[in-house]
Amino acid sequence: MPPARTAAPALTLTFDNGPEPSVTPAVLDVLGRHGIASTFFVIGQKLLDPQARACAEQAHARGHWIGNHTWTHSGPLGERPGDATARLEIDRTQAEIGALAHRPPLFRPTGGGGHLDRRLLSAEAAARLQAGGYTCVLWNAIPRDWREPDAWVDTALAQLAAQPWSLMVLHDLPTGAMRHLDRFLTEAARRGCRFRQDFPPDCLPITAGQITGPLADFVTSSGPAPAS
Ligand SMILES: [Zn+2]
Repeated sequence: MPPARTAAPALTLTFDNGPEPSVTPAVLDVLGRHGIASTFFVIGQKLLDPQARACAEQAHARGHWIGNHTWTHSGPLGERPGDATARLEIDRTQAEIGALAHRPPLFRPTGGGGHLDRRLLSAEAAARLQAGGYTCVLWNAIPRDWREPDAWVDTALAQLAAQPWSLMVLHDLPTGAMRHLDRFLTEAARRGCRFRQDFPPDCLPITAGQITGPLADFVTSSGPAPAS
């Protein structure tokens, strides 16, 4: 028997922590040249800068989705419990996103370096997301472009090859990493990668306010999570 053909990997791209007027427009241009639609998970308070706001508007106009990545990005919400914090980080950001919001609204928790564990959400934050009808978007590929602004491309290609559908976190930040975005996308396409904008269901513990995954694995039940 011939060996089974390996299906071409799929890739959903997301860009966190922007918008950054010095970086995001170039990212949009590269994505446009490749015909790729993605999601930008923006930091709410950055939108107060009119130039940053214009970047988000341009992304939205080009068909990218705009998601909520907290107001201050000052640490995983599971380590910062309380309803007031949840309302500031989630609700205020969504209000600032305003007309650029995706339906259902999209929220990505801050991972404090990429941790996928109970530090991600407080009980109050999880409740806000459900009550607000949010889809909570985690990830399964994080090539740490902010730490390795040159080497991340090789990491990303390896992660892409290791699973059928990658939901990848990159950052439109001035680290220099995005200089390599075009090279990464060219190589991914050469390897047969299919780009898509929607999210792998197993990365969504909440979908439009409904629990659709192991949400408890991502919520600090009481007090700060123990150090690991
Ligand atoms: Zn982030």
